[in-house]
Amino acid sequence: MIMQGKKGVILGIANKKSIAYGIAKACEEQGATMAITFLNERFEEKLAPVADELNCNGRFYPCDVSKPEEIATLRESLKKDLGEIDFVVHSIAFAPKEGLSGRFVDISKEAFDIAMDISVYSLIELARELKPIMSSNCSILTLSYYGGVKYIPNYNLMGVAKAALEMTTKYLAEDLGKDGIRVNAISAGPIKTLAAAGIGDFSFMLKWNSAHAPLKQNVTIEQVGNSGMYLLSNLSSGVTGEIHYVDAGYNIMGMPAVKFDENGKPHIAWNGEN
Ligand code: NAP
Repeated sequence: MIMQGKKGVILGIANKKSIAYGIAKACEEQGATMAITFLNERFEEKLAPVADELNCNGRFYPCDVSKPEEIATLRESLKKDLGEIDFVVHSIAFAPKEGLSGRFVDISKEAFDIAMDISVYSLIELARELKPIMSSNCSILTLSYYGGVKYIPNYNLMGVAKAALEMTTKYLAEDLGKDGIRVNAISAGPIKTLAAAGIGDFSFMLKWNSAHAPLKQNVTIEQVGNSGMYLLSNLSSGVTGEIHYVDAGYNIMGMPAVKFDENGKPHIAWNGEN
């Protein structure tokens, strides 16, 4: 079992459709011992059965990353219940609705600050605050999206946050590398989750990606989960500061595949047709 003997914490499970759940499941199946967190009481009751299913044995703690005191409390709970930790999953993002549709130029400073705080700064804060209990080969994983590299309609503010998150991954990787700690990101293709529901025209993104990705599919939380588990495990011990795409290959495409009919008229494949 690849994760046998590994202990860690996973932040960002909202429900069983969450990417973090896919990662947790893959880790649990490979023998990891883990703790998971919930945002507030509203989610505590809903997530308790998920914590049981993942064999957390009561390691189920509140953590709103916008509240520094809750991160400090999380560290103390983890120290008490797990001792040292070998992996941390940061699968958290939030932007106010105004930042996920409409004109980019109209985004308020307040919305910008909230998105950067919850979606980016929280990774730095988690790395720093949990570092005292990290083992000497701990692996940290965060989740990004292609909208942080190229323009994607409606992704707007979250695109800027993901760009910052990807560079944060690299700067943290360099800084913590001297302590043996690795920091990587998965850039996942679009998946229908609670967070994704907030993005304008998300169903079009799904259609477009499956039509134009080399594998002609959208990725699943199981696929992202398995790749995440690899990055948390010793199998990736030589990998840090990496933005690893799990997107059915979509990011390599510079132009959609085009076929020409007998009159030389171009036809762009759509919805998986050839
Ligand atoms: P999700 O299931 O809704 O997960 C997002 C998580 O962030 C939720 O558990 C949410 O908690 C948590 N969160 C928000 N604000 C928080 C706060 N202040 N403190 C602690 N937790 C907070 O959606 P997901 O799609 O799996 O998203 C996970 C990550 O993957 C995000 O970084 C997202 O940007 C990224 N990603 C998603 C896609 C996609 O298409 N779905 C693609 C690429 C990357 P509550 O639900 O309890 O509010």
